[in-house]
Parts: sequence; C-alpha cells; structure tokens
Amino acid sequence: MSGGGPGPVPTTVVLDVGEVLVDETRVFAVWADLLGVSAGTLAAVLGAAIVEGEDHVAAFAHVAPNVAWAELETEHEARYGGFAEADLYPDVRPALAAIRDAGLRVVLAGNQPERRTAQLRALDLPVDDVVTSDELGAEKPSPAFFAAVLARLGDPDPATVLYVGDRVDNDVLPALEAGMRVCWVRRGPWGQLQDLPDGIEADLSLEGLGELPELLAAWRDGRFDDATADGGTEVSA
Ligand SMILES: [Mg+2]
Repeated sequence: MSGGGPGPVPTTVVLDVGEVLVDETRVFAVWADLLGVSAGTLAAVLGAAIVEGEDHVAAFAHVAPNVAWAELETEHEARYGGFAEADLYPDVRPALAAIRDAGLRVVLAGNQPERRTAQLRALDLPVDDVVTSDELGAEKPSPAFFAAVLARLGDPDPATVLYVGDRVDNDVLPALEAGMRVCWVRRGPWGQLQDLPDGIEADLSLEGLGELPELLAAWRDGRFDDATADGGTEVSA
C-alpha cells in the first residue's frame, strides 16, 4: 500500500471536512469552556492525546474526568451554532472553484453527524455533491465508508479519485487502502502531529489547499518532477 507518483490523472477530488475545509478552533474553544478549562489547555492536552494515538475523547476525559461530555453535546451545539462562513479556511472557496473550473468533479465526504450535513450544504460551496458519514451509514476509517463514497460516485476506478484529508489514521491510510490517490493536508492538530508509517507515501503533501489546483493541473499535464514520485510536490515549469 503506497501512494506516490503521478499515475492515472484524478478526475474526481473528494475532500474531508474537519481541518481540510473547516478550522475547528471554535469547536474546541466551546468544548474547553463547557469542560471548565482554557482553550489553550484543551489544545495542549488534545495534542498530547494525538501523539499517544488517542483523540479528543481521551483529551476530554483527561481535563474533565467527572464530566459526561456526551450529555453536553446539545449545549455545545447551541453555543457553537454550527458551521459558519468564518470557520472556512480562506483557501477553500478559491481552490474548490478552480478545481471545478478545470473540469474535475468535486465532492465533500467527511465524518459528520446528521446536524452538520445541512449546515455544510448551506455554505453553498462550489462542489458537485456533499455526503456525510451519517448519510452513508459508515464512518472513517472503516473501509465501508470509502466503498460507500465510491458507490456514490458511480464506482469509478478508485485510482482516478483523489481523497484530500488531514489525518493519517482516518484519511490517508484507509483511502490508500481503498485504492484512491491521496492528498495529505498537514494543518490542524492531527495534520501537524501525525506521521506516515515507514514506506507509506501520500501522492501529495500540502500545508493547505492553495496549491492544489496548480498541482492537479501539473499532474494532468505530466509536469511532475521525478521528485514527486517520492511523495514530493514539486512541479516543473
Ligand atoms: Mg479532518
């Protein structure tokens, strides 16, 4: 299982939501408030949990061991108010529009609860489809999620699908396992802290979405350097 190398040209780009499109700072700030710690403390504990291979559930339990946080989800949602335009990373709209203008199909597919689906659609991003784990009946990193996404796309050759995600465990590895190409976006706590296992490469590794349209154009036009076959992202003029 390995990415790397130009290979077939992607004709569909499927993007994760959290930390690829949506900056989750506000989500965790509201949680910190509800759990009785500062946003900085929760962020630090979350980072430590990620390094240990755990996630936000472990971080919440660490800072507030006596709080049944799942019972606070309604209160959290009321304070958070759902996805807002200001939560989108600034490179999202221009990148999605450019990719779509270049003739590629653009689809959003992330692990999101039911209430987020309508919020995501309401942002009216320049995409062809929005699907969430709740609708698909499967969550990442389950292979069933990626199989359901491919089915939704009409069962194309998975190698023509580029999955764009920030997490190694939930995005990069299972998407490669499903036969997709992968763009690893190294932003947000997981993207900053996780590492790829030895011998595994993402086809593209970026700090944001800004460069993605040009890299996809280079991929299409065969302008990748040999370095790119090793997982780099350099494009020759
Ligand atoms: Mg994510």
